[in-house]
Amino acid sequence: MRILILGGTGEARALAERLAADPRHAVMLSLAGRTRDPAPQPVPVRVGGFGGVDGLAAHLVASGTDRLIDATHPFAEQISRHAAEAARRAGVPLAVLSRPPWTAVPGDRWIEVPDLSAAAAALGPDPCRVLVTVGRLGLAAFAVAPQHHYVVRSIDDPGDLAALGLPDGRLILHRPPFDVDAEAALMASAHIDVLVTKNSGGPSTYGKIAAARRLGLPVVMVRPPQRPAVPTFHAIDALIAWLEDGHVASAAERGV
Ligand code: NAP
Repeated sequence: MRILILGGTGEARALAERLAADPRHAVMLSLAGRTRDPAPQPVPVRVGGFGGVDGLAAHLVASGTDRLIDATHPFAEQISRHAAEAARRAGVPLAVLSRPPWTAVPGDRWIEVPDLSAAAAALGPDPCRVLVTVGRLGLAAFAVAPQHHYVVRSIDDPGDLAALGLPDGRLILHRPPFDVDAEAALMASAHIDVLVTKNSGGPSTYGKIAAARRLGLPVVMVRPPQRPAVPTFHAIDALIAWLEDGHVASAAERGV
């Protein structure tokens, strides 16, 4: 079976690794090309956009793709929309592999917001010290609130923070996983008042959430966007069962 995985996540990589071990499949992983130094991948990789829905639909047909897996990040809204429409047009079955979002537990002080603009507004007018972990492309949303001190942690270098509208910023370049003790130590040493994060789910970046809880800090939590209604799996085994037997009920179909 020819399988195209839309990636850019640890889940996509883990799925590719599992499928690469099965000689019945020819797997291609697609990356947007945003990460400057991407981790090595276990299957052939193509890099760059397809050129919208038309381009992706044409690619699915030309490459003879049998199954499309959207294993992109929960906040990669556009590519997921494009995948649903292109798969429909090309007649290629599509499933989503995604991590479930985190849920608040006792002790968490979450302020849930719909997007990054609302996250910037939620910080309030008085200057405070903010740990921001929303990805380099999301930083511009905080230019409306330049009064705060921002400790920006990012995988890729966003460039000059002042040029992005954050005159009082400090940059930490680091790649997950992040452990709770290290996160708590960072928040304490930087005298952080509040954490801003997307609700991306998954264990590798959960340390900051547990650390904020431990320190009693509020978390401005950006809710994930709504994804198209397609079969959705949180576990690789369930997704592989779907690949092998297209009518296995997905988590979404079962209302999970
Ligand atoms: P996006 O806004 O949903 O997509 C923008 C455009 O980038 C898409 O229309 C598509 O271009 C191209 N694209 C996105 N993912 C692609 C893929 N896997 N393969 C080929 N082209 C892709 O996406 P984004 O939020 O910028 O994220 C880009 C990538 O980074 C995604 O693959 C995602 O998994 C990963 N990522 C995103 C976040 C996040 O917070 N958004 C965090 C970690 C990783 P065309 O229209 O030209 O096809």
